[in-house]
Amino acid sequence: MKLITNRIRGTRDLLPEEYVKTQVIINTIKSEAELYGFNFIRTPVIEHTELFERSTGETSDIVTKEMYSFQDKSGRNISLRPEGTAGVLRAVLENGLHNNTMPLKLMYHSSCYRYEKPQSGRYREFFQFGLEIFGSDTPETETELILLSNSILSRLNLSNIILEINTIGCPECRKKYLEILKKYFEDKKHELCETCQERLEKNTLRILDCKNKSCKEICDNSPEIINYICEPCSEHFEKLKSYLNNLNINYNINSRIVRGLDYYSRTVFEFKIKSQDNNINNLVICGGGRYDKLSEIFGGPNLPALGLGIGLERLVLAMESQDILFPEVQTPEIFIICLDNNSRLLGFKLCDILRKSGIFCELDILNRNLKSQLKYADKIKSKYVIIIGEEELKTKKSKLKDMRNNNNINKEYEISIDPENFLEKFMSIYLSL
Ligand SMILES: [Zn+2]
Ligand SMILES: [Zn+2]
Repeated sequence: MKLITNRIRGTRDLLPEEYVKTQVIINTIKSEAELYGFNFIRTPVIEHTELFERSTGETSDIVTKEMYSFQDKSGRNISLRPEGTAGVLRAVLENGLHNNTMPLKLMYHSSCYRYEKPQSGRYREFFQFGLEIFGSDTPETETELILLSNSILSRLNLSNIILEINTIGCPECRKKYLEILKKYFEDKKHELCETCQERLEKNTLRILDCKNKSCKEICDNSPEIINYICEPCSEHFEKLKSYLNNLNINYNINSRIVRGLDYYSRTVFEFKIKSQDNNINNLVICGGGRYDKLSEIFGGPNLPALGLGIGLERLVLAMESQDILFPEVQTPEIFIICLDNNSRLLGFKLCDILRKSGIFCELDILNRNLKSQLKYADKIKSKYVIIIGEEELKTKKSKLKDMRNNNNINKEYEISIDPENFLEKFMSIYLSL
């Protein structure tokens, strides 16, 4: 078959069997986050390009290389969101939510877009679940968000999870560290990859993020920020660590975690799935950090904030790799087989009665014969069928056939198909099965 066009590279069609999986994950995160007081927010997929330029820093890879940007018909510079936080913070400030009682806890589930090389678990259109806490600059905030992430991952039955935390200081103490770091890399400039040589001038910290092997080796011996942070930043980090210790949350300190975006300060953290194979990197499934200064960058007031993003595609991959069972696509309880127009009319009425009681049922809408309808009911794995033909219409009685077929014996139960008492009679049999 030659279609006029196919799906865009780096995008996915989520077919029903796959969709169910993300739905399970979303529902789990949602119900757990609700226990912590989070409420949903939805922001537009398109924003003024400026918003992302300001939030990620004009030099970041996301802005310079990966954003889907275009001019609309009025010449405005528009971008598809490359991540969720900037839009949510813009919405908070624009709608004055920061004037309400703090903290403000928001969650969202959104599609994001980045023009990067598609690879396993990484797409140009990807889906992110985000959790943000505004209006609190305490380490208790980090503790709460880490506890929440931890319970989400354990409710999803994931194992071999590693929590890694780091602090990248505040703008003041980071400045001092960046000078030292830059000096360290400058001496080894020719050994760095091309991208990192560029980063050296514009965004030294990001070199620590590089996946390139020789860059990684150089990074291994680089000075660590933890030795350069200021007193308040250090106290903040120590207090978080002491909470985690006392709450028995296992973690490692990884000074290489800097997160991909410029606006983070102080705490950054990642949850990873430990790879069984030493040659394969641990899979990062969610990551977050503090971004206290972003509000001011946007022209808002001082508004401390902490956020977390969960990559849904990666979470599905991780769960599949651990053979965690997902629920299957639902199959109908009952299929009503109708043999002529009058029976179809009654079939519609009975289906309506069942559906109003929350029972999944279907009937034939292709006007097939008895044999093909039976075959179809079997194919869609309907648990029961009811047949309505001329005879059944006359007597207002039919049989409920059990299609689950144990040892080739299909049990049958007499049932009234009179809409007046159908539900009552049906339920008394159905519930006893
Ligand atoms: Zn500091
Ligand atoms: Zn590099």
